[in-house]
Amino acid sequence: MTMRYCPRCGVPRMLSNEHRWDPSGTISLARDASHRMVILDNDALDHVLDSISERIGMPLDQIIVEAKRKSARHFMEALLSGVKGVVVRKFAGKKVYEQLAKQVNMLGSGNAVMTEYRRHQFLDGAVTDAFNGPCIAGDICGAFESVEGCTAGAEFHYDPDGILRIRVSQTEGLRPEYEDRFSYVPRPALSGRNIYELCPVCHAPLALGDQYSFDMDRGVIREDKTGHRVILIGVMTLNNIFGELAGELGEEIPHMIMEIERDRVAQVIREKGKDLDSSEQGYLRYARTLQLRGMGNGSEVRTDGESITVRIDNPYFEPLIAGFIAGFYEATSGKAADASWTEATPGYSEITVKPA
Ligand SMILES: [Zn+2]
Repeated sequence: MTMRYCPRCGVPRMLSNEHRWDPSGTISLARDASHRMVILDNDALDHVLDSISERIGMPLDQIIVEAKRKSARHFMEALLSGVKGVVVRKFAGKKVYEQLAKQVNMLGSGNAVMTEYRRHQFLDGAVTDAFNGPCIAGDICGAFESVEGCTAGAEFHYDPDGILRIRVSQTEGLRPEYEDRFSYVPRPALSGRNIYELCPVCHAPLALGDQYSFDMDRGVIREDKTGHRVILIGVMTLNNIFGELAGELGEEIPHMIMEIERDRVAQVIREKGKDLDSSEQGYLRYARTLQLRGMGNGSEVRTDGESITVRIDNPYFEPLIAGFIAGFYEATSGKAADASWTEATPGYSEITVKPA
């Protein structure tokens, strides 16, 4: 039997085999460098989605399922292209789903099992410790559509014991092609100089095994310092979810996301109650915590009176990065802050924070 965890650093072998940590503050798939991943705090994601839902007074489940369905379908189409795809679709649908369930565990999304499957008809799944119901339901739905070559719908609910139950079933007819499009365009990646000390056995950054604990059976990853659960999620997927929300709910969504994340981060920092260095060097050090998570690379800080501008190369999602910086500003200055940012079209974003 092969070892599932690295005996030296404790990181699951599958995780380190399938991902690369780049000096530019990004994580990408080993077999496809254009596919970026990020280690996201599960509380942060839940908190943003719940808060948006609360502020606008409607549930977001359907929008999230839809955004995830599109991303997962897109991802699977790329994976199952060519002859391999033809063979897999014809003979090995069930195997593909079993492999996907392993991925769900590896990414920290929970423990997924397929409970029933009828080709071209439906697929039932059960997930314990599911990180997010609509996200997982959308993922499975998109994969089902790609493997079966049909359109499908997903229903899900939680059992009283907390197990997430999902049924994906084929739906009639075809979806107009434009409905499967999305607007996210990957940004050019700027190079960086972060040096990770790598595990000599599995080549994952040593800091990963130092700072996180992995339970592959439960599909749960935790940050040791905070005890918070984290997940690995695609940068494209995340941008699609928030892009879809902005498309459906209005252009004020990105600023709202910044505010929600700012408030959460400021509170987390205040609860730690440590004296924090708010000099330019202090901001750079703080921004450095983004790297291991694949969220980007803080490269420059400028102060101008009470306003501060932080440049982040390769940011995973500008509004959440802006909230991350603004929360630090609030917690260290004791002043209410507002943030603005530039789109990372050239590969970096400049976030400016000042008193509100
Ligand atoms: Zn290792």
